Amino acid sequence: MVRPIHNIVIVGGGTAGWLTAGVIAARHQGRMKTGFTVTLVESPSIGIIGVGEGTWPTMRATLEKIGVSETDFFRECDSAFKQGAKFARWTTGAADDAYYHPLMLPQGFTQLNLAPHWLGGGGGDRTFCDAVCPQGALCDDGLAPKMITTPEYQAVANYAYHLDAGKFAPFLQKHCTQKLGVRHVLADVESVIQAENGDIASIRTKQAGEIPGDLFVDCSGFSALLLGKTLGVGFKDCSDVLFCDTALAVQVPYERASDPIASHTISTAQSAGWIWDIGLPTRRGTGYVYSSRHSSEDAAHEELARYVGPRIKELSVRKIPIRSGHRELFWKNNCVAVGLAAGFLEPLEASAIVLVELSAKLISEQMPANREVMDIVAARFNEVTGYRWGRIIDFLKLHYVLTKRTDSRFWIDNVDPASVPDRLKNLLHLWKYRSPWFFDEFDRLEEVFPAASYQYVLYGMGFRTEVEPEDNEGTQSMAARLISENATLTRQLRAKLPKNRDLLQKIFDHGLQPI
Ligand SMILES: Cc1cc2nc3c(=O)[nH]c(=O)nc-3n(C[C@H](O)[C@H](O)[C@H](O)COP(=O)(O)OP(=O)(O)OC[C@H]3O[C@@H](n4cnc5c(N)ncnc54)[C@H](O)[C@@H]3O)c2cc1C
Repeated sequence: MVRPIHNIVIVGGGTAGWLTAGVIAARHQGRMKTGFTVTLVESPSIGIIGVGEGTWPTMRATLEKIGVSETDFFRECDSAFKQGAKFARWTTGAADDAYYHPLMLPQGFTQLNLAPHWLGGGGGDRTFCDAVCPQGALCDDGLAPKMITTPEYQAVANYAYHLDAGKFAPFLQKHCTQKLGVRHVLADVESVIQAENGDIASIRTKQAGEIPGDLFVDCSGFSALLLGKTLGVGFKDCSDVLFCDTALAVQVPYERASDPIASHTISTAQSAGWIWDIGLPTRRGTGYVYSSRHSSEDAAHEELARYVGPRIKELSVRKIPIRSGHRELFWKNNCVAVGLAAGFLEPLEASAIVLVELSAKLISEQMPANREVMDIVAARFNEVTGYRWGRIIDFLKLHYVLTKRTDSRFWIDNVDPASVPDRLKNLLHLWKYRSPWFFDEFDRLEEVFPAASYQYVLYGMGFRTEVEPEDNEGTQSMAARLISENATLTRQLRAKLPKNRDLLQKIFDHGLQPI
């Protein structure tokens, strides 16, 4: 008999669990009347990881799709705008060494690749980012990416969010249970009951008995309770490529309530890793992600203290061990893992939550009609998700291989060719003679990091692609026009956009226009 997929059981109530619940429940609302259910089981005693405060612009579409009001999201999750990331001291380590990876595409990106023109001198003395995009200047000026009159989720300059991870999961929980019909069970999963074919038949909980399901989503965090522990799917370690394995996290209050809020993540390279700095309306979230092979905890603490200042003595610093890598499969039998249960890579480009969103979207869009076709969907999910993890690993490593720093073993080891994935090596070789672009290597519909991201990092870190004058022949006037349009746009936006803190305050006081 063909068994329809009706009952979705999600284990875990962190960001991954609630986002997945929301995306599936919103997409399948119509089927709820005919017995489709989404149940989220969450331990009342095991907390969520509670870090993970930088997102990608995809979050706007995700929140809008599940029916969340952006104003509520700003007010209840202490959220702020994110327009990209500034990487300081990654190339030479000097005090003025910095570049932006903004969220806007280079001007005219789908029509013309401006990189060869900039490399040929077409941008004058401006950095690549400044020559092709206004967002670095907007971040330097501390400006917001929109105005109070811009409706919810719409942007003047593309944006994502910084948010309080401790508030985001409860916020989503309220929305999912009150508006989307998600059933919430507070219970510890103690054992898992499997059918003869290896499928998960049900989970046995301490407080709520047995909970059967047709499809189980493992969002149980690092423990990977269902896919890892029960179904035995192995973990593919990638610490030979990405060395950081520990985080020291600390929340830093502003000195004055009126202090500016940066509208970008600041990532400052250190001797054995890097420090993140994320500005929320009421505090900053910071932390040192480092390699314990290259630094002791005491030395890392000292570096973090130098960054945060003497106030660190009054603040609580939390140590979080991290393991770089991902599951060998993401969907096996009737179980699919999302979030930390699927894997984790250092949070250098905030790639974890966007992968949660993409996975949740894929599961909900491709929801198998019945068990018979589930393996076909699972194979596709594994192929796409495996590709994404590989791409993210390459992209994160790119930030390290382009360094010219030799001031510590960490940076020297990072450029060792043995630590660089072959695909990245090949791409770097290719890019010596041709700049990455829209149609080149990036052919997937939903690349986590498109060619533009590679351009910003490559040329931000001083990589040179050899350009012959004849390469740009025939497109020079169009390039000059696009670069000049960007300069005009930059001037206009600098003149009209409000300061980041001012706009956030207005949103708290008056709200954005709902769409
Ligand atoms: C230092 C650090 C910084 C990060 N920064 C970023 C960032 O800037 N951007 C980004 O995108 N990501 C970031 N991340 C990753 C991000 O935090 C996670 O991807 C995200 O929070 C999702 O976590 P999760 O829901 O998978 O797991 P968790 O939050 O750990 O949730 C696990 C859930 O499983 C439940 N559970 C576990 N065992 C059981 C059981 N036996 N029975 C019932 N329930 C159970 C727990 O109760 C909990 O609800 C960062 C991570 C770290 C470590």
